[in-house]
Amino acid sequence: MSELQLSDVRKSYGGLEVIKGVDLDIKSGEFVVFVGPSGCGKSTLLRMIAGLEEITSGDLTIDDVRMNDVDPSKRGIAMVFQSYALYPHMTVRENMGFALRFAGVPRAEIEKRVNEAAHILELRALLDRKPKQLSGGQRQRVAIGRAIVRHPKIFLFDEPLSNLDAELRVHMRIEIARLHKQLATTIVYVTHDQVEAMTLADKIVVMRAGVVEQVGSPLDLYDDPANLFVAGFIGSPK
Ligand code: ADP
Ligand code: MG
Repeated sequence: MSELQLSDVRKSYGGLEVIKGVDLDIKSGEFVVFVGPSGCGKSTLLRMIAGLEEITSGDLTIDDVRMNDVDPSKRGIAMVFQSYALYPHMTVRENMGFALRFAGVPRAEIEKRVNEAAHILELRALLDRKPKQLSGGQRQRVAIGRAIVRHPKIFLFDEPLSNLDAELRVHMRIEIARLHKQLATTIVYVTHDQVEAMTLADKIVVMRAGVVEQVGSPLDLYDDPANLFVAGFIGSPK
């Protein structure tokens, strides 16, 4: 029952191949974390899944439907970025509802979804505030709220916590784990933080220079890293 499938997915910029044939199966409800050094292609891969970047060759399927040429808004995917620029002149409520308003969702339905997301994220008391009246963690929760209101089947997170201080990062990590349980959705998550990967993931994908080095549960990778690169990245003793 695989929900998201990549087969021999490649990406070139000009003549340079940066994603070099990625195969991957992601099951419904799974929390999959991509790790790897800066520049190895994590964001590019996520952007191709979201439809923000064209796939040079290979296939992307969601529920067995080929998605390569499907509009981003029709993929059932919502993405949360590292720099989660909120609209400064809009309230939390307006920030969360904006994409839906843009998509022509009826006002009552928008209100219902925003309230539901605010409840899940404990933002109910902050709905009328502007972003500058929020802490970093609260802003990040609004950014996640903007994704939740779209009722995606799949969430993509690109280093969502890397702009937060260490304490807040731990707190938000717990929030994201809770969110995954509560919403029971599929999450594809990119981080360069190995602790984040080990604590959040059902499945970790270790990348290096556009290639997948190993896929496995955190325990698999720790106990049986495929090579020294994976061992070094995961922090296992091999
Ligand atoms: P990561 O997210 O793992 O740090 P990226 O996916 O951002 O890596 O980048 C992978 C590689 O692709 C890097 O070598 C980067 O320089 C290159 N790259 C990314 N986007 C572009 C682009 N728009 N044009 C040219 N090269 C790019
Ligand atoms: Mg990146």
